Amino acid sequence: MLFACVSAQSASVLIPETKALLKRESDCIAQVLARLAVIDDRRLFAEVGYSSMYEFCLQELGLTERAALNRLTAARIAFAHPLLFDALADGRISMSTIFQLSYHLRVAPADELVAGVAHLSRAQAQAWLAERFAKPPLPTKIESVTTDRRRRSMDDGSTMGLFDESNPVQHPPGGAAPANSQESTGSKEPLPARAQVIPCREERVAYQFTVDRSTHELFLKARALLGNEVAPGDVANVMAHALRALVREREKSRHGLHSSTRGPAPTTPKGRYLPARLRAIVFRRDGGRCAYISDAGKRCECRRALQYDHIVPLAQGGQTNVRNLRLLCPAHNQFEADRRLGRAFMDAKRDARKQGSSSHSIEGAA
Ligand SMILES: [Zn+2]
Repeated sequence: MLFACVSAQSASVLIPETKALLKRESDCIAQVLARLAVIDDRRLFAEVGYSSMYEFCLQELGLTERAALNRLTAARIAFAHPLLFDALADGRISMSTIFQLSYHLRVAPADELVAGVAHLSRAQAQAWLAERFAKPPLPTKIESVTTDRRRRSMDDGSTMGLFDESNPVQHPPGGAAPANSQESTGSKEPLPARAQVIPCREERVAYQFTVDRSTHELFLKARALLGNEVAPGDVANVMAHALRALVREREKSRHGLHSSTRGPAPTTPKGRYLPARLRAIVFRRDGGRCAYISDAGKRCECRRALQYDHIVPLAQGGQTNVRNLRLLCPAHNQFEADRRLGRAFMDAKRDARKQGSSSHSIEGAA
C-alpha cells in the first residue's frame, strides 16, 4: 500500500518530499541519540531492570546488536560534545561523521571540527581531516575470521555479527582508536567486545578464535596433562575440561559453592566478611542471578560479576545474614548505592577510589 501510493507520485512531489523526510530523519536520529545519552548517564536502564545500557537497547528498545552498538557509541561521543547533537539534527553532519571525528575531538574544539566537515561527504570529510591533522596512531588491527552472517546474540551475553570491515564503530576512519573502547566511555560500562560464536545445529555451537603464543602453550600443556582422556585433535574436549575446572574453581572462590550448606546459616552481625557457606546459601537462593526487581516487576537477568549486597546497609544497622543479603549485578549494586546515598555522593566516592585515595569497596560496603 505504501509503495503503491509513492510510486503514483510525480517527480515534483517525490523529490521535495524525499528531502523533507531526510531532514526529519536527521532530526529523529539526533533526538534518539540525545535520549540514549541521558538514559545512559542517569543509568535509567538499571531502574527498569537491565544490567547494562546495551542490554536495555536490545531487549527494551528492540534494536539489533549493530544498531545498538552504533547508536550507543555515537550517543556517548556526542554526550561529551553536545554540539554534535545539534549538528546532527540540522543535517550538517551524519552519524558516521561522529565516528570520523571521535579521535580528533580529543585534540580540537567540537565547533571547529563541525564547521570544517559540515555538509561534506565521508570522503571529503576524511580529506579535510587528513589535511588539518597529523595522522593519528594506527588502531589495533582486527581481522575478520568469518563472514557468516547468521551470527546472533547468545544467551550468555556474547555478541556476534556486530563488526565487519566497513563498520565505522570498529574502524573509525583515519585510524582512530576504537570508539567503543573503555577510554571513550568513561565510567560507563564498556560496550561489547568482538566475539565469534556461531549458533549451529541444536545443542551445538561453533567457536572460532585466535589465541596468542602463551595461550597456545597453555593449551598444549593442558592437553598433555589430560593424556588419554581426550582423543588426539579433540580441541573441544580439552576446552570442555578447562571450562569445567574454571567454573568450579570460581564458583568455589567467589560464591562458596561445592561445600556443605547443612546446619544453621552462619551469622556475623557486625562484620563485612561473608563466610563461604553464607555466600553459597544466598547464591543458591537467588538462583545465581541478580535479584533486582524493578517497580514494574521485571527481574534483572544478569548472571555476570555478581556481588553480595546488604539490603539494609551495615551503617544503618543491617546484619550480615541470609535474610539481609542478596545478589546484585554491578549495575544494580551501583544503582542501589546511588539510591540510598545519593548519586553525587557516590560519584565522588568512586572518583576518589579511581584516583587511588581509597582502596575500600564502596559498592560492597553500601
Ligand atoms: Zn542486575
